[in-house]
Amino acid sequence: MILVLNAGSSSLKVEVFTSDLTSVLSGSVTSIGTNGTIKLGDETKATKTVGHADALAQMLDSLAHAGITLNNLTAAAHRVVHGGTILTQPARVTPQVIAAIKSVIPLAPLHNPNNLAAMLALQAAAPDLPQYASFGTAFHATNPAVATRYAIPQTEHDAGIRRYGFHGLSYAGTVASFGDTLPRRLLAMHLGNGASLCAIKDGKSIATSMGYSPLSGLTMGTRSGDIDGAAVLRISAALGEDEADRMLNKNSGLQALGGDNDMRNLLNRDDAEAAFAVDHFCYWAARHAGSAIVAMGGMDAVAFTGGIGENAAPVRDKIMAQLACFGDVPVHVIAADEEKQIARDALTLMVAA
Ligand code: ADP
Repeated sequence: MILVLNAGSSSLKVEVFTSDLTSVLSGSVTSIGTNGTIKLGDETKATKTVGHADALAQMLDSLAHAGITLNNLTAAAHRVVHGGTILTQPARVTPQVIAAIKSVIPLAPLHNPNNLAAMLALQAAAPDLPQYASFGTAFHATNPAVATRYAIPQTEHDAGIRRYGFHGLSYAGTVASFGDTLPRRLLAMHLGNGASLCAIKDGKSIATSMGYSPLSGLTMGTRSGDIDGAAVLRISAALGEDEADRMLNKNSGLQALGGDNDMRNLLNRDDAEAAFAVDHFCYWAARHAGSAIVAMGGMDAVAFTGGIGENAAPVRDKIMAQLACFGDVPVHVIAADEEKQIARDALTLMVAA
C-alpha cells in the first residue's frame, strides 16, 4: 500500500492506495498549530496539533488503529506544491531532493516547508520506507521559453521571476485518464476554488494561465486572477504588502464580485451581483482559453475538472458558448484526483527502479 500525503498550509490530507491504484482510506488533519479535527474514514474527532510533524504522528496513530501500520506500507508519496526550475519530474526523496525542495522555499513559503516537515518526520518514524515526491509545477516544465519568460530584465528572470504554472498533478491525471484516446490538442480547465487552464499538445503542457504564483489567470473563488502590475504596486503602496497580499488572494475573485466565493451559492441566487460574478468567471475563462487554443494552433477537445468544472453545468455551457467560434469539439468532464496521480507517479518510479 502507498500512503499519499498532501501537507497544505494548515492541513494534512492523507489517502492510502493499493498497488492497483484503488483508494482504501482517506483522512485529514485540519487547523494544524491549534485546535482542529482529525478525520479518518467516517470518524472525526477534535484534536490539538503543534505542527505538521505532530499532525503526521497523530495521523499515523489513527491509521494504525484503523489497521494500517508503517509496516503495511510499501512507500509514501508526497505532494509538493513547488518544484521551481529544478524539480521537473516526480522523484524519489533523497538528501539531494530534500535540499532542492528547501532551495525553492522562497517560491512557496507557506507550503514547501510543510511538505518537508512531513517528509522528515516520516523518515524519522520509518527510515527504511521509500518516499517519493510529485511537484505541482512539474507538468508545465515542457512550456517553451516564450511562454515562461516575462518580458523583464534577465537578472530578475534568473532570480526566479518567471511563469511556473500550477495544478500540474490535476492536468497529469487528466492526461492519464484519457489513456490511448488522448486528443492531440486538449484544452484542459481545472475550475475549483483555484482555477486555471492548460494547453496540452501531444500530452504535454505548452501553455498555462497561472504564472509566477497561483494568483494569475482566471477569475477564482477569492483570487483576483490577472491584474495589471501597476495596479498591484498602487494597492501595495496604499495598503502595505501584507494587506495587498490578503486582498488579492483572499478577498478578490467571486468573493469580491458576488459576495460569496462558492460557485454553487452564486448559481442558486437570482440577483444581478451573483449573475455578474458568474459571467465574469466564464468570460475570463473563455478569454484565457482563446489564448491557450492559439498556443496549440487549434483544439480537438476540452476537458473540465475541479469542483466547478465537474459539477457546474451552467458554467461549462457558458464557457463553451463563448468558444463556439473555434468549432464544435467534444467536451469531457473528468474527476480531479491529484492524490491518485501522486500514487501513480510513485508506482511508476518504483517499477522503473
Ligand atoms: P479546491 O480548489 O479548494 O480544491 P474544489 O475543486 O473543491 O476546490 O471546488 C470548489 C468549487 O466547486 C466551489 O466554488 C463550489 O461551489 C464548486 N462546486 C462544487 N459542487 C458544485 C455544484 N454542484 N454546482 C456548482 N458548483 C459546485
